[in-house]
Amino acid sequence: MSDIGRMYIDGEWVLSGSGETREVINPADGSILASVTEGTADDVKKAVAAARRAFDKDGWQDTTPHERAALLRAVCTKLERDREPLLKLETLDNGKPLRETGYDVDDTIGCFRYYAGMAEKPTGQTFSVPDPNIQTMVVREPIGVCGQIVPWNYPLLMAAWKLAPALAAGNTVVFKPSELTPLSAIRLFEIFEEVGFPKGVVNLVLGAGATVGHEIAANHGVDKVAFTGGTKTGRSIMQAATGNLKGISLELGGKSPNIVFADADLESAVDYALFAIFCNQGQVCSAGSRLLLEESIQDAFLARLVERANKIRVGPGSSPASEMGPLISESHLNRVLAYVEIGRQEGATLLCGGNRLTEGELGKGWFMRPTIFTDTTPDMRIVKEEVFGPFLVVQTFRTEAEAIEMANDTEYGLAGGVFTPDGAKAMRVIRKLRAGITWINTYNPTFNEAPWGGYKQSGIGRELGTFGYEEYTEVKQINLNLNPGMSGWFEF
Ligand code: NAD
Repeated sequence: MSDIGRMYIDGEWVLSGSGETREVINPADGSILASVTEGTADDVKKAVAAARRAFDKDGWQDTTPHERAALLRAVCTKLERDREPLLKLETLDNGKPLRETGYDVDDTIGCFRYYAGMAEKPTGQTFSVPDPNIQTMVVREPIGVCGQIVPWNYPLLMAAWKLAPALAAGNTVVFKPSELTPLSAIRLFEIFEEVGFPKGVVNLVLGAGATVGHEIAANHGVDKVAFTGGTKTGRSIMQAATGNLKGISLELGGKSPNIVFADADLESAVDYALFAIFCNQGQVCSAGSRLLLEESIQDAFLARLVERANKIRVGPGSSPASEMGPLISESHLNRVLAYVEIGRQEGATLLCGGNRLTEGELGKGWFMRPTIFTDTTPDMRIVKEEVFGPFLVVQTFRTEAEAIEMANDTEYGLAGGVFTPDGAKAMRVIRKLRAGITWINTYNPTFNEAPWGGYKQSGIGRELGTFGYEEYTEVKQINLNLNPGMSGWFEF
């Protein structure tokens, strides 16, 4: 039993009462990496009770920001110590190439360090109000118990984006990783234990979304739920959260436009178009999955794009030569391949890829060729729906106005990019884009300092930056009477 991955609840490493386990699969070869305990709604209830006690009674909310910052900095030190084994573990579990998991671990460390710093910075307001006897102040306080649910595409980094600001602000947490990629979260919680977070402050529950995830969203002991994942799941979490009207943050899907004008430098725009969609096998919420090309450059651009897409080295993430790894699971690969069939049936033209890779060892994993469709129309499912794989659709436009209209013709609003050396044009287009994360003459860079989140059905709220910190605080006004005495409201 000892080699079964456990949950961390109330300061103990525990197996679920369910007695069930789940196998964690290496997507590069289908092998079993580990078995982990399968949590249940009961385990969530225990974790919430522990988190409540730690917040309400055991004094976590009264710790100083400096004490919490010291713990978060200690986490950074341990993550730095464990960088190499951690990034290798993440690659085995998620599939992405080592150079990407290297960035993920470094960004994770940066995120904990950033919020450790923010905890210690002055906040709050004092101001005069129309009554000269009153001094008004505004303070930020932790919300309480925060439930946090993340997906499999950036397992460790998504954990950091949620846990670091919540803990820095003085909340206690019940955290659930994706059931497909729980291994780096287990390591992170081992580090939390090592640096000495008090019992009940940080709780890790493993298991399925429909059981464990649902209970986190529905449980009345949870004051706020923060979720990253698919838009459909986000909707059901929002519904489950209505019972106690808990706070809610949702980071959801996208179908983001990457707009290239004819005056853009072709080589660099091609390069970024590839990076925008094929990084992390296209399993990125903000991926530039719709390439909007000015019609006059279509032929030259696509010829170069396809030439380079075909040269991307697809292979196991653990091989340093690999530039693109496997998709996360067989069922996800089949879902992406089904979209290839849908694209064909809809009458789009497949320019490259569209198939699973089965040569040699690759046949054991869930590998797919970079795939590009052109001759699309805005009503096609492959243009409207998030595929979440190495799957690019090309749309063409003639004017700036048409580019803006086409870019915004989506129920999502997460991200978008524009390529042109004309600064004024770039700014005009970006200001019209209904999306929360945008880039000019680049795509993908993300910083702990800047807010992350979407318009429309891409989510509610923001992570990262000061915005992400504030999402884990309540705001309180305090009115202080400078001349204590009678109110004078009643005569007798
Ligand atoms: P998913 O919605 O299937 O699962 C995400 C998490 O939610 C998992 O931990 C899962 O177990 C849990 N879950 C599933 N059903 C649940 C339910 N009914 N109640 C509570 N929890 C539940 O998403 P996924 O397939 O893991 O990830 C891919 C999706 O995540 C894509 O749509 C992608 O765009 C999105 N995503 C968004 C961002 C962002 O910042 N906006 C970042 C990464 C991924």
